[in-house]
Amino acid sequence: MTTPLHAPVDPSVDHALRLIVAGASTESTCSTELAAGPWHFDALEGYGPGSSMGDVIPTGSPRQGELPVAYREADEAELHERIRAAKRTLGDRVVVLGHFYQRDEVVQHADYVGDSFQLAGFAKKHPEAEAIVFCGVHFMAETADLLSGADQAVILPNLAAGCSMADMADIDQVEDCWEQLADVLGPLDEPDADGRVPVIPVTYMNSSAAIKGFVGRHGGIVCTSSNARTVLEWTFARGRRVLFFPDQHLGRNTAKAMGVTLDEMPLWNPRQALGGSAPADLQDARVILWHGFCSVHRRFTVTQIDQARAEHPGVRVIVHPECPMEVVDAADEAGSTDYIRKAIDAATEPTTFAIGTEINLVRRLAAQYPQHEIFCLDPVVCPCSTMYRIHPGYLAWVLEELVAGRTPNRITVSTDVADPARVALERMLAARP
Ligand code: SF4
Repeated sequence: MTTPLHAPVDPSVDHALRLIVAGASTESTCSTELAAGPWHFDALEGYGPGSSMGDVIPTGSPRQGELPVAYREADEAELHERIRAAKRTLGDRVVVLGHFYQRDEVVQHADYVGDSFQLAGFAKKHPEAEAIVFCGVHFMAETADLLSGADQAVILPNLAAGCSMADMADIDQVEDCWEQLADVLGPLDEPDADGRVPVIPVTYMNSSAAIKGFVGRHGGIVCTSSNARTVLEWTFARGRRVLFFPDQHLGRNTAKAMGVTLDEMPLWNPRQALGGSAPADLQDARVILWHGFCSVHRRFTVTQIDQARAEHPGVRVIVHPECPMEVVDAADEAGSTDYIRKAIDAATEPTTFAIGTEINLVRRLAAQYPQHEIFCLDPVVCPCSTMYRIHPGYLAWVLEELVAGRTPNRITVSTDVADPARVALERMLAARP
């Protein structure tokens, strides 16, 4: 039994935003528009309010049709009751998955909560479910489709829930990069005397199925933020260099911890010839980093860490490895969402934690562990723009559509992409430290 030391924490970021907009809170937000329903932004160009609102959304990204007015106008209590009733009716025919970064009003209806790969694994455990409702973003629903049965429908409640980081590695740009690297490094599938090929592509789980398929076709592998080091060891045993995408920060932080120097890690900017590097730099490279980033984790700074330490002596600072290198270096620890959750769970003495990851997860952890003081390093309430696109209104809509015998917003990956993408995922599962 734990003893609460602090006032109860409301885990709802939605409630915090509404209080800010009403002038009833001293907190601030990056956008007061976050207090509105995300359907206000479905018809607009761009990711909508939140951490990635300044990023460029690719043309051709999926668009969400208008959510029926009954769901837009229903209040929180009514939506919760409609979701519960639809789930009762559907029973084992549906599994609802909720990512750690989803709003609390959605997570409370999830059968499983976790990171993207954990959730795809949970989906696999329910072959009897006809529908897997994935409350997360587009690449996660694609991964669940790769790993679930052919007759199971994976449903993304709002098609506008993409991921700005995943969108930064476009398949055409990656194919073009591969051709340019071949011009500099020679045939990319020919091993040297040590049996190592010139370059192996590695993609972070946070990428499209098309990118995972590319990686699978070219002898590469997928990684998560939990196993990135193991995956890089796997690639260094088989290749002289790594092409790592889309997240430069995860690639840099992981490789640096393995002893790779910064001058051995040129950045590949897809809008410049040879990614903006000289041929000699690519020859000398060990890890070529794609110019991608997560706009949520890019918000964390060393100044925030200094401030947390000044205001909370003894604070334990844990950040996600998608944060910039200076932030990871200044923190006490860096690790995946699962690492952060387990580190807090394992703390036996009341501790103050400053956490550098998405605010919905941080507030939920603060509510779940009242014996600790847990706060987000970023003092501004600024959730992930695209996770924010899933609202209980969309969840109620897709569940009631399923009850009515319709299958809305199904995400499917074509076989020509899915087969090599599965190969890349299987290599990751087989890679051992
Ligand atoms: S938190 Fe970052 S990586 Fe995750 S969905 Fe949002 S933009 Fe993408």
